[in-house]
Amino acid sequence: MSNATQMKDVPTAVTNTQRYDAVVVGAGFAGLYMLKRLRALGLRVRVFEAGSNVGGTWFWNKYPGARCDVESLEYSYSFDEDLQQDWVWPERYAEQPVILKYLNHVADRFDLRKDIELNQRVSSAHYDSEGCLWTLSTQRGDVVEAPFCVMATGCLSTAKLPEIPGIDRFKGKWYHSGLWPEQGVDFTGQRVGVIGTGSSAVQMIPLIAKEAKQLYVFQRHANFVVPAHNRPLDAAVHQAHQENYVEHRAEAQLTPFCIGGHPKPTKKAFEVSAQERQATYETKWAKGGAISFLYTYTDLLVSKEANETAGEFVRQKIRQIVKDPQTAEDLCPNDHYIGTKRLCVDTGYFETYNRNNVRLVNVQKAPIQQIEPEGLKTENESFALDAIVFATGFDAMTGALFEIDIRGKQGAELKTKWADGPATYLGLMTAGFPNMFIVTGPGSPSVKTNMVCAIEQHVDWIADCVEQIRAQRLHEIDADPSAQAHWTQHVNDVGDSTLYPLANSWYVGANVPGKPRVFTPYVAGLDVYRKKCDEVAAQNYAGFLKR
Ligand code: FAD
Ligand code: NAP
Repeated sequence: MSNATQMKDVPTAVTNTQRYDAVVVGAGFAGLYMLKRLRALGLRVRVFEAGSNVGGTWFWNKYPGARCDVESLEYSYSFDEDLQQDWVWPERYAEQPVILKYLNHVADRFDLRKDIELNQRVSSAHYDSEGCLWTLSTQRGDVVEAPFCVMATGCLSTAKLPEIPGIDRFKGKWYHSGLWPEQGVDFTGQRVGVIGTGSSAVQMIPLIAKEAKQLYVFQRHANFVVPAHNRPLDAAVHQAHQENYVEHRAEAQLTPFCIGGHPKPTKKAFEVSAQERQATYETKWAKGGAISFLYTYTDLLVSKEANETAGEFVRQKIRQIVKDPQTAEDLCPNDHYIGTKRLCVDTGYFETYNRNNVRLVNVQKAPIQQIEPEGLKTENESFALDAIVFATGFDAMTGALFEIDIRGKQGAELKTKWADGPATYLGLMTAGFPNMFIVTGPGSPSVKTNMVCAIEQHVDWIADCVEQIRAQRLHEIDADPSAQAHWTQHVNDVGDSTLYPLANSWYVGANVPGKPRVFTPYVAGLDVYRKKCDEVAAQNYAGFLKR
C-alpha cells in the first residue's frame, strides 16, 4: 500500500449521536466560509473534514510546484475587509504552502476550529422527511443530526488513479498529486516516471526534473500551456491593490470569471488583421496567465476557426522553445481546442524538455500496458523506475458526492438519480434532497471561474436562504423538479453553444470510464449567474418548493 492510500484511512472509534442546526462536509475555502456565515446566524454548526487539517485542495495537493493559476490578489476571500488588508501575498501566484497558511490563518482568525472535526470522513447522509432532518455518519462511527446539510466537498477532491494493471506489484514508491505526503518527497538521484500532462503535471515536472537522475514523462494527450510569469509581488503594486480592494472586487464581479484587470474583448478574432492578432497574442504571452490569454477575442471559445488562431500561436511557441523537433511535435496539442481543457499555466515547462535527464514518452503512439515490479512497460519499451507519480487528475464534480451514500426523500439514492448525469437547480440543490445544499455543484459556474469568488457567492446565497427558511418558520426547501429540468437544459444549451463539450476533458467526465458524458459547469459567466441567483432569492426563492 502506498503512503497516499494510508493517508485516507480513518481509525474506527465509538458511536456518538449529536444534534446540530447544520452540518457542513469539508473544510476547504467553501466549508470554512460556510461555517463562519452559519455561525453568525446563531446556528450550532458541525464541520466534518476527512483531512488532518483544514485547507481542502491546498491541504491535499502538496506536490512540488503546486500554486494557484488565478492571481492571489483575486484568488482570496473578499468577505472581510480587515483580512484582505492584513494579508500579504508574496508572489503573483501564491504557492501551495502559502495558500494553506492563509486558510489556517482564516480558521484561527475567525476561531473556526472549535466547530471542525478533522480526520472525520462522512460516509452517509440520509434524509428523514417526517422529521425534516439529515442524519450523517462518519467512517469513524460518529452520527449527527441536523435540519440543514451543506456539501462543501469540492469539485476536485477525489483523486483518480488510472486503470493500469500491476500497481500493487511495483517495488518502488508511487504518489498521486492530490494525495501528496505531508513530509514531501525527495526525488534526488531517482529514476522517476510522471504519468499525465495536465495542470498538476505541468507544475511539478520542471521541479522534479531538477532533482531526479532521470525523468520520463508519459504523455497521452498534449495540453496547451501558457506562461505564468510568476514573480514576487512588488510592495507598491500590492499596496495600491489593497487600497482599492473593494473597487477591485466589485469590478471583478462584473466579469464572467470574477477576475478584474482584464479589459473585456470587443472584437472577433477575424475582425483584425493576422499581424494584429499575432501582436496581441505576443503581448498576452508576455503578460502571462490563462484568463488574460483566452480573454482576447469574443469568439475564441465559440468559433473553431477563431480558436485555431490562438492554438496555432501556442504550437509555434512550443516549436520555438523545444529544441528536439520530434519532442516539440509530440508536445503540440492536436486533440482539442485551446481552452476547452483547462489551459495550463507554467514556469519553465517546455524548457524542461531541453534537459538531458528528461524524456517525453508519447504513450498515445505506444500505450502504457502495465506497471511492473521494476517500472513501467509500454507497447514497445520498458522503463526502470524508482518512483511513479500519477498526475492523473480527479473524479471531478461528482466524485466526492458519490463517495458518500446520500439518500433523500423516500430513501432515493443520489447516485441512482444522477446515473445519467447530475441535475440541479442553479447547482445549489437537487430535487428530492431537501435542505441539502451543494457549494459549487454541477450546473453552477464552479470550475469555469475564479473559484473563491464562486464559493463566496454560493455560501452567501445559502446562508441567506437558511436564514429566510428559519425566519419564515418553514421546515423544508427543495428544488422544484420542473425548475430543475429547465435549469439543467439551460446549462446544457449554454455549454453546447461553445466549444467546451467537444474536448475529452474532465469537464465532461471523459477521464472516468463509464461516467455519463455531460458538460456540467454553467459557462454563461459568474456575473450572469449571480444575477439569476439574486433574482430567485428576491422572488422568495422562486423555483424552490417550501413547506
Ligand atoms: P476543496 O478545497 O476540494 O475542499 C473540500 C474538502 O472536503 C476537502 O478537504 C475534502 O477532504 C473534504 N471532503 C470531501 N469529501 C468528504 C467527506 N465525505 N467527509 C469529510 N470531508 C470530505 N481554482 C481556482 O479558481 N484557481 C486556482 O488557481 C486553482 N488551483 C487549483 C490547483 C489545484 C492543484 C487543484 C486540485 C485545484 C485548483 N483549483 C483552483 C480548484 C480548487 O479546488 C478551488 O479553487 C477551491 O480550493 C475549492 O475549495 P472547496 O472548499 O470547494 O473544495
Ligand atoms: P487533469 O487535468 O485531469 O490531467 C490528468 C492527466 O493525466 C492528463 O494528461 C491525462 O491524459 C493523464 N492521464 C490520465 N489517465 C491516464 C492514463 N491511463 N495514461 C496516461 N495518461 C493518463 O488533472 P490535473 O492535472 O490534476 O488537473 C485537474 C484540475 O485541477 C485542473 O484542470 C485545474 O482545474 C486544477 N488544477 C489547477 C492547477 C493550477 O495551475 N492552479 C494545478 C493543478 C490542478 P489525457 O489528457 O490523455 O486524458
